[in-house]
Amino acid sequence: MADDNELADIDWEQAARMELEPDAIHESREGYYFDCPECGSPATIENIIEHGRCNGYLDEQVEGIDFDVENISCSAVLRLEMAYTAKPESET
Ligand SMILES: [Zn+2]
Repeated sequence: MADDNELADIDWEQAARMELEPDAIHESREGYYFDCPECGSPATIENIIEHGRCNGYLDEQVEGIDFDVENISCSAVLRLEMAYTAKPESET
Protein backbone atom coordinates (compact mmCIF):
# COMPACT_ATOMS: atom_id res chain seq x y z
CA MET A 1 0.00 0.00 0.00
CA ALA A 2 1.28 3.46 -0.84
CA ASP A 3 0.22 4.69 2.56
CA ASP A 4 2.56 2.32 4.31
CA ASN A 5 5.60 3.71 2.47
CA GLU A 6 4.47 7.21 3.22
CA LEU A 7 4.13 6.40 6.89
CA ALA A 8 7.58 4.81 7.02
CA ASP A 9 9.18 8.08 5.91
CA ILE A 10 7.73 10.16 8.71
CA ASP A 11 10.08 11.72 11.22
CA TRP A 12 8.09 11.16 14.38
CA GLU A 13 10.63 13.10 16.43
CA GLN A 14 9.28 16.23 14.73
CA ALA A 15 5.64 15.39 15.26
CA ALA A 16 3.40 17.36 17.57
CA ARG A 17 2.40 15.44 20.66
CA MET A 18 -0.40 15.80 23.10
CA GLU A 19 -1.41 14.04 26.24
CA LEU A 20 -4.72 12.30 26.07
CA GLU A 21 -7.10 13.41 28.77
CA PRO A 22 -10.11 11.29 29.68
CA ASP A 23 -12.45 13.67 27.84
CA ALA A 24 -10.46 13.24 24.61
CA ILE A 25 -11.75 9.70 24.32
CA HIS A 26 -15.15 9.27 22.75
CA GLU A 27 -17.15 6.13 22.41
CA SER A 28 -19.22 5.05 19.47
CA ARG A 29 -21.02 1.86 18.67
CA GLU A 30 -17.97 0.82 16.68
CA GLY A 31 -15.47 1.53 19.41
CA TYR A 32 -13.43 4.36 20.80
CA TYR A 33 -12.22 7.34 18.82
CA PHE A 34 -10.45 10.66 19.21
CA ASP A 35 -11.04 13.94 17.43
CA CYS A 36 -8.52 14.47 14.64
CA PRO A 37 -6.39 17.47 15.66
CA GLU A 38 -6.33 18.75 12.08
CA CYS A 39 -9.79 18.29 10.63
CA GLY A 40 -11.82 17.46 13.74
CA SER A 41 -13.31 14.33 12.26
CA PRO A 42 -13.45 11.17 14.31
CA ALA A 43 -10.25 9.15 14.32
CA THR A 44 -11.01 5.65 15.51
CA ILE A 45 -8.30 3.86 17.41
CA GLU A 46 -8.39 1.08 14.86
CA ASN A 47 -7.78 3.47 11.96
CA ILE A 48 -5.02 5.34 13.77
CA ILE A 49 -3.18 2.13 14.51
CA GLU A 50 -3.81 0.39 11.20
CA HIS A 51 -3.71 3.32 8.78
CA GLY A 52 -2.26 6.26 10.70
CA ARG A 53 -5.15 8.36 9.44
CA CYS A 54 -8.38 9.84 10.69
CA ASN A 55 -11.76 8.78 9.38
CA GLY A 56 -12.03 12.07 7.48
CA TYR A 57 -8.99 11.15 5.41
CA LEU A 58 -10.16 7.59 4.95
CA ASP A 59 -13.68 8.77 4.08
CA GLU A 60 -15.08 6.29 6.54
CA GLN A 61 -18.24 7.26 8.35
CA VAL A 62 -18.44 6.27 12.00
CA GLU A 63 -21.81 4.74 12.68
CA GLY A 64 -23.94 6.61 15.17
CA ILE A 65 -21.89 9.81 15.10
CA ASP A 66 -23.31 13.03 13.74
CA PHE A 67 -20.24 13.97 11.72
CA ASP A 68 -20.20 13.79 7.94
CA VAL A 69 -16.75 12.73 6.72
CA GLU A 70 -17.73 12.91 3.06
CA ASN A 71 -16.27 16.31 2.24
CA ILE A 72 -13.38 16.25 4.66
CA SER A 73 -9.83 16.35 3.42
CA CYS A 74 -7.02 15.96 5.88
CA SER A 75 -3.25 15.68 5.68
CA ALA A 76 -2.61 14.67 9.27
CA VAL A 77 -0.77 11.45 9.94
CA LEU A 78 -1.58 10.09 13.35
CA ARG A 79 0.07 7.76 15.78
CA LEU A 80 -0.82 6.64 19.26
CA GLU A 81 1.93 6.19 21.78
CA MET A 82 1.91 4.62 25.17
CA ALA A 83 4.63 5.99 27.40
CA TYR A 84 5.69 4.21 30.52
CA THR A 85 8.33 4.01 33.13
CA ALA A 86 9.04 1.01 35.25
CA LYS A 87 11.10 0.42 38.30
CA PRO A 88 14.45 -1.02 37.30
CA GLU A 89 14.18 -3.70 39.95
CA SER A 90 11.06 -5.54 40.91
CA GLU A 91 10.16 -5.24 44.57
CA THR A 92 8.32 -8.52 44.75
ZN1 LIG B 1 -8.10 14.49 10.07
